[in-house]
Amino acid sequence: MENCRICGKMLCRESLMDFSSQPASAQGLPEKGNPDRGVDFSVKRCTCCGVVQLDSPPVSYFREVIRTAGLSEEMRKFRLAQFSSFIEKYSLQGKKILECGCGEGEYLVLMQECKGIPYGIDGSAKNIEKCVQKGLEAEKVYFDTGLEKVKKAPFDAFYILNFLEHIPNIPAYLKGIYDNLKDGAVGLVEVPDFDMMLEKDFFAEFIPDHLYYFTAESLQNILNENGFFVLHTENTFHSYILSMQVRKMTQKEKNAFIPEKKSYEKLDLSGMKKAKEKFVKDFMKILSAGKRCAVWGASHQTFSVLGFLQEYDKALLQKKLLFVADSAPFKQGKLTPATHFDIVSPGKIMEENMDTLLIMAGGYSDEIYRIAREKMSFSGNIYILRATGLEKCE
Ligand SMILES: [Zn+2]
Repeated sequence: MENCRICGKMLCRESLMDFSSQPASAQGLPEKGNPDRGVDFSVKRCTCCGVVQLDSPPVSYFREVIRTAGLSEEMRKFRLAQFSSFIEKYSLQGKKILECGCGEGEYLVLMQECKGIPYGIDGSAKNIEKCVQKGLEAEKVYFDTGLEKVKKAPFDAFYILNFLEHIPNIPAYLKGIYDNLKDGAVGLVEVPDFDMMLEKDFFAEFIPDHLYYFTAESLQNILNENGFFVLHTENTFHSYILSMQVRKMTQKEKNAFIPEKKSYEKLDLSGMKKAKEKFVKDFMKILSAGKRCAVWGASHQTFSVLGFLQEYDKALLQKKLLFVADSAPFKQGKLTPATHFDIVSPGKIMEENMDTLLIMAGGYSDEIYRIAREKMSFSGNIYILRATGLEKCE
């Protein structure tokens, strides 16, 4: 891909970072005998609009929102507080509010609790069915061209939360939103915060589902170019989310709007590259020292990390790592995407005499550690993957 998906201008010639052996999507696991090949992708930046993007194709299910794990209690509380202050600030009590990418209606319920009148759209008929079963109002619409009309339009407000970065044709989608709103309508737009990834050198957050990686500056550009003023910007939810409140421009304001001309210098990802290299080398050292190693936790993060290791030294990885364990029955018997390790039940860790256990399970890692040491009496070396790298546990 040589041109920007958003503005059509040239992408920088040199890639900022390259990835190989990565899972092709965040959903689904390959079956034995039918392994996928995984994907390679490069991170590039548009020289014109400044948006950082992947050069790989969108995943097949980009039109639908999937919130596999539902909402955590923390996220539920965060959204309730956020929605009620949004409604208060813009006097949206009893007003029609459009959610773009509503999934199974997780946020529609909360918006209802906050006295808005939410209406959801999503590209998946199954999601819409789930919403309707819950008594929520929703309709199967995805703005492929921007000419699609939503039944209950025009709306007083809209929100799109962690969905914009999945959308291949953003100008068409934003036109669809714009044309289904009343003049003066406000909105809430959220994406994962790339400024934070840059600041903390988070190299493991690039996934094929997310085509774009927005900074506050590049997101504001895109919103302005497509008919929205940005009223307020903040970085929220432990810095992971870039959140903007916007207002629809009138046609007159849109015509009169002159974007600031900027030139985008080459973005420096050397910190991320160094962090990735250090992480991989540390990991390889642990694998070298062990004889029979296993990972516990078959998550997207694990699959991505295994791809980094395979890229660096496939022979060593294949020799030392015997399998990935996970307690979810629907994952067992399948393979890790791109790297093709067996996913097995955690019981295999003792049966097969492992000497090194690498726990990669996010918020569940400490609980798994206790299970391994106390219930299973595993006496080998245990490491937990933290945000800062692998931590040895006694
Ligand atoms: Zn561009």
